[in-house]
Amino acid sequence: MIRSTIARVDLAALQFNFRAIQEFLAPSHSGRPSVIAVVKANAYGHGAERVALALEQAGATMLACADIEEGIVLRRAGVRVPVLVFGALSVSDLDGIFEYALTPTISTPSAARALQVAAARRGIVIGYHLKLDTGMNRLGFRHDNLARTLPAVLGSLNLRLEAVYTHFATADSPGHKLFTDQRERFERALQTIGALGAPAGVTRHAANSAALLRDSRTWYDVVRPGLLLYGIVPPPLASTIPLKPVMSLTSRVVAVKGLRPGESVGYGCRFNTNGPATIAVVPAGYADGLDLRLGQHGHVLIRGRRVPIVGAVSMDMITVDVTELGEVEPGDEVVLIGEQGSEAWQRIDAREMAAAIGTIPYEIVCRIGTRIERQYSA
Ligand SMILES: *Cc1c(COP(=O)(O)O)cnc(C)c1O
Repeated sequence: MIRSTIARVDLAALQFNFRAIQEFLAPSHSGRPSVIAVVKANAYGHGAERVALALEQAGATMLACADIEEGIVLRRAGVRVPVLVFGALSVSDLDGIFEYALTPTISTPSAARALQVAAARRGIVIGYHLKLDTGMNRLGFRHDNLARTLPAVLGSLNLRLEAVYTHFATADSPGHKLFTDQRERFERALQTIGALGAPAGVTRHAANSAALLRDSRTWYDVVRPGLLLYGIVPPPLASTIPLKPVMSLTSRVVAVKGLRPGESVGYGCRFNTNGPATIAVVPAGYADGLDLRLGQHGHVLIRGRRVPIVGAVSMDMITVDVTELGEVEPGDEVVLIGEQGSEAWQRIDAREMAAAIGTIPYEIVCRIGTRIERQYSA
């Protein structure tokens, strides 16, 4: 049995985007930066296993995820390339790092100590990426305190520094001063780390999608795009990289209802008709990740036309006003994200949906529910 609401994931488009990003990273004087493909949060809702394998096949030499559990999912799916874990290591549960050959990020002194103890107990040396905090004030060693905090980490006999990285807080806010400050702090910190005895030529990375689009000075040796891989440009930026949308979200009309003047639809009577109206019922609701605010602000495509979502978003369904369309029948295709025709207005993307309700496209795709089947095409 297959539900009518389906997320289609175009793996060829994903691979196209990966290569387009690689080509955008034209060789600089130090060579072309390589790409860590970010597949955290179930590959931004697209399905981590298939997405990771497709990216590996396209040539990704490293993938990144949020925590150990996500890394284990990738390994169980058969991913062989190195997998970087971005998040803080829960000190109590490091076994997965070793058992599944994941690459940890060390972002606190206590994580370094715990990892050193665990690696020594196993009698091995484990490579790690060092996270610096240059202004995000979340995870990482403070950039201005490294002479105090790092010697113990760098001196750990069972830990091998593979890379140093930081993360930008304002890469998608053009004109924000912190972006430049963070880059300069990162570069000074790299010098400090060198002076503290880190091996010369240690790999450096900093750029997420927005930073890599905006400023080639953030590329260093490796870049870390997530959103761009999925064909979505972080707002408010425009992209000079040709990208293809990867995911579409479609459903089918399950019922069509005629309303008399003055009647209302759904919970709370949020939509009232003036004249006679026709409502189509679509079987996807907030349990599937459709935000409540879409009830007044969202649109879908039916029969190649844009129609408004009206009334409350329910747990399992939405209602759309198809009065203008004339003919609509149960079984008609409904596009929530994707296209239905070749005109610009016959396309709704995650960025438009996010803008309509005041959120970011990251949230739109990450929240697409587990009840929705992902269908993959290659
Ligand atoms: C999520 C994440 C990225 C990717 O961010 P995008 O904006 O999706 O490109 C890069 N680096 C880190 C540390 C992240 O957590």
